Amino acid sequence: MKKAIVITDFDGTITQKDTLVGILDKFAGPKWLKIAALVRSGRLGTKIGLKKEMALCRVTKKEYIDFLNTDVKIDPTFKNFLRFCEKNKLKVIVVSGGFGLNIEVVFKKFGIPRLPYYANIIQFKGNIVKLKYPYTHKACKTCGHCKAPYIKRFKDKGYFTIYAGDSVTDRCPAKVADLVFAKHHLAEYCGEKGIPFVPYTTFGQIKKRLISKALLFHS
Ligand SMILES: [Mg+2]
Ligand SMILES: [Zn+2]
Repeated sequence: MKKAIVITDFDGTITQKDTLVGILDKFAGPKWLKIAALVRSGRLGTKIGLKKEMALCRVTKKEYIDFLNTDVKIDPTFKNFLRFCEKNKLKVIVVSGGFGLNIEVVFKKFGIPRLPYYANIIQFKGNIVKLKYPYTHKACKTCGHCKAPYIKRFKDKGYFTIYAGDSVTDRCPAKVADLVFAKHHLAEYCGEKGIPFVPYTTFGQIKKRLISKALLFHS
C-alpha cells in the first residue's frame, strides 16, 4: 500500500486548548475577541488577524514562556499516538498557524521527541511582540502560514495525507488532504462546505480509526 504521513495542527489539536487563545486572554485584553470573530467569519485573513491580535499584547518573553509552562496541557494520548506512528512507519509533521516558540516550550515540557515543525516566529522587544511569517505562500492570500502546500507536496511525492486540525488555519489543508480529522470550528466548516471529514476529540481516536481502516501502510 501507499506510504502515509500525518500532518497535524498544534494549537487546540496537540494541546488541549489553543495556546494563543490563552496568551491573548491573559495579555491582550478583550478587544482581541472582535478580531477573532472577523477571522472566523472569513472577513479577515489569519495573516492580518494574528498580527492585529498580537499587537494588543503586552507581555515579555519571560512572562510568555512562564504562561506556556504553567497553563498548557496536551492531549494525553498524543505521546502514545507518536509511538504508534513510529512502529507503523507513519511520518508525522506539525504545521502551526501560531508560533514555533510555543511548540518548542510545550514539547520540552512534556518530553515529546523532536518532530519536524513549521510555524510563524514571535520576537520580543520588552513587552511588545513582533511576528514574522517565514512560510507565507503566494498561492494563498488569507493565511499567514498556509498549510495546504505541505499536503500538496507530500501528495506529489506519492504519500497518502492524513490531516488533523480544529480551527481557522486548518481550512486550507482540509480542502486538499486525503483524510481529514476535524473538531470544533474545523468540523463545522467542513460540514458547511461539504468537505468529507472524520470527527475526533483525541489522537487515541485517530489511532483507532487508522487501525480499523487498515491504514497501516508498512506493517
Ligand atoms: Mg488549532
Ligand atoms: Zn491558506
